[in-house]
Amino acid sequence: MEIVLNRLTKVFVTKNKQETRAVDNLDIVIPSGKLVGLLGPSGCGKTTTLFMIAGLHKPTSGRILFGNEDVTKLTADKRGIGLVFQNYALYPHMTVRQNIMFPLENLKVDYDEAVARVHEMAKLVGIEDQLDKKPGELSGGQQQRVAIARALVKKPRVLLLDEPLSNLDARLRLQTREEIKRIQRETGITTIFVTHDQEEAMSISDEIVVMEKGVLQQRDKPQEVYYNPENLFVAKFLGSPAINVLRGEIKQNKLYINGEYFADKKAKDGQYEVGMRPENFKVSESGVSVKVVDVDIIGRDTIIRFQLGDQTARALVDSETVESIKNIKLAIKDEKILLFDIETGKVVK
Ligand code: ATP
Repeated sequence: MEIVLNRLTKVFVTKNKQETRAVDNLDIVIPSGKLVGLLGPSGCGKTTTLFMIAGLHKPTSGRILFGNEDVTKLTADKRGIGLVFQNYALYPHMTVRQNIMFPLENLKVDYDEAVARVHEMAKLVGIEDQLDKKPGELSGGQQQRVAIARALVKKPRVLLLDEPLSNLDARLRLQTREEIKRIQRETGITTIFVTHDQEEAMSISDEIVVMEKGVLQQRDKPQEVYYNPENLFVAKFLGSPAINVLRGEIKQNKLYINGEYFADKKAKDGQYEVGMRPENFKVSESGVSVKVVDVDIIGRDTIIRFQLGDQTARALVDSETVESIKNIKLAIKDEKILLFDIETGKVVK
């Protein structure tokens, strides 16, 4: 089921008449059967967007379509959505079986059919041997799987996940993230996954929607958003260690940082914000000597912190290529250097 957000806007007005434009003119198409990560920093409007799609918040203006159907005015229970929250929201006094079956009770589904569906869902999420336990007897990751099974048992048209991995420790987070990906692939259900974790969004999503201050920044495949960011915000928000952003100048297809030649770069003469990802530097004889501030060997990789005039940058290089930290020469290819407009932050192509 394709989801279309058309000029979707939500303005919250507080008691003292303060306005917050939580979501601002959002135009997005979520393709049918895809897993789309809604990514951005805290307060950028992710949850508000998800809640409008779910029917839990009424938009100030704009429309929401499921396929050809305008659902903007439909109540949450009429939209055919499955919702999963970060805190699982399971009923503690009920067994896992009763929790998963619960949504079917209001739907007047035949009992045998309900039992069969509960088993099908429990099998799908891999908890078929936990059905008689109470949620409190399960790990966080298992509880979240129960919540997913409960969300899917009604056969919703759309699955909405709001920071579903936030309460899990690092190991369970990774495991559950892979499980969600598998479950989504197996069911083919259109899924929106809200997260502020860029790595999580990159690993799980078919497409990423990046938001900031309620405004869409970019929507594309993870590798596109990472390698071809449309603006400085997106470039800085994705990647760890973060992209280096330095003030630089292009003169006759050469890049100068603090007045010193640094690399070749074909572009129009002028001043730019220059973005270079740490992993795009190579230690090379053909590179430029840099003043090393600090070297951090983390196994296979080494992080070199270096100085360019009054600006510092990081390079992430293969440890084996660093023979001596005294005289390190770094090179970066033309196409790996991103240029951004100083005023607007937009990428310059
Ligand atoms: P987080 O990751 O912290 O949950 P988010 O990206 O999901 O953040 P939202 O919860 O959608 O962000 O909030 C977006 C903006 O709207 C914030 O500035 C927030 O303070 C504001 N906001 C959210 N809900 C309400 C509300 N019920 N009343 C007033 N303002 C609200």
